[in-house]
Amino acid sequence: MNFDTICVHGAKDPHNNTGALAVPIYQSATFAHPGVGQSTGYDYARVQNPTREPLERLIAALEGAQEALAFASGMAALDATLSILERGDHIIASDDLYGGSARLFDSLATRADLQTSYVDFSDQNQLKKALKPKTKIVFIETPTNPMMKVTDIAAIKQILPPEILLVVDNTFLTPYFQKPLNLGADLILHSGTKYLAGHNDTLAGFLATNNLELAEKLRFITKTVGTGLAPFDSFLLIRSLKTLPLRMEKSQANALKVIDWLAQQPKVKKIYYPSLGDEKSVAISKKQATGFGAMISFEVDTEATAIKALEKVQIILYAESLGGVETLITYPYLQTHADLPEERRLALGINNRLLRLSLGVENPDDLLADLERALA
Ligand SMILES: *Cc1c(COP(=O)(O)O)cnc(C)c1O
Repeated sequence: MNFDTICVHGAKDPHNNTGALAVPIYQSATFAHPGVGQSTGYDYARVQNPTREPLERLIAALEGAQEALAFASGMAALDATLSILERGDHIIASDDLYGGSARLFDSLATRADLQTSYVDFSDQNQLKKALKPKTKIVFIETPTNPMMKVTDIAAIKQILPPEILLVVDNTFLTPYFQKPLNLGADLILHSGTKYLAGHNDTLAGFLATNNLELAEKLRFITKTVGTGLAPFDSFLLIRSLKTLPLRMEKSQANALKVIDWLAQQPKVKKIYYPSLGDEKSVAISKKQATGFGAMISFEVDTEATAIKALEKVQIILYAESLGGVETLITYPYLQTHADLPEERRLALGINNRLLRLSLGVENPDDLLADLERALA
């Protein structure tokens, strides 16, 4: 089956004898046993439930993974990943990173005595220098948030000793545009809250891998602490994934129209989008992904222009998050990346003139008219 067909037909209720097309919401915390020492396959919903399970199989199929796990949020998935480490272990992560991930590395992880070094993966020497005997995880986002830097996943994997896990946050491109396991990644992380759920109505997170031993460790963690995705949210995800290809195509088409328009605006000084990077990074994008995605960051002339734009948009909503059908505008400097120290934000280019757009699926003419008003 092809990707878009799997999206529509890939989640099936294995217990269906009604002919229902939708996987039901099995809203049950516990499951009765047919006899002593027997199980229907489900015992207690923290461990597994029959709505989450088909969703996990669907995500595995979409990522080309043998195993996938559904979590209550992307951060719960990242926390489970860090839970496989031991005290004193070392992590190397992208210097330009989702703010919440950086917060986890810099706060809870340090309490467990895990150390994180941040590197710019476009400079392989930085990575080589950062490697330590205790390095266990290399964590990359590509493209990065919010500066849209692209990392060559296969090239990074080649540098790493085989025992180091290469974890790729695939939230921005989704398996529709990029399949990191095929490029050498060991584990994929998703904020399912974004494109996979796609409607700004639920939180979710995923991990996907072909390493069965790793999958088993992760499953032990989530069943022990109870961070698995609830039945209703699993239902929403299965429903949303049916239209993932349509939403990705339309959002990306809108993004391409918006970057063309932004390029002509005198108040717009810089645009960050994977197709607008330097020659080398555009070549990497084309090699490892089939699209550039629907996230754009841009810098305007003054802080006042940025603030006015945020306050004047009408269709576009000034809100955190991304990847939904509604187009959102955010101010990374004061929102997603507010927790990063000022000097680190500025060094990355996250200043008080930077805005980030997540394109939704509205009519592009309405979006352009809204931006025109906001930047007037
Ligand atoms: C939102 C996001 C996360 C965190 O996911 P939640 O579902 O909000 O917990 C992680 N990585 C990226 C790239 C994100 O955009």
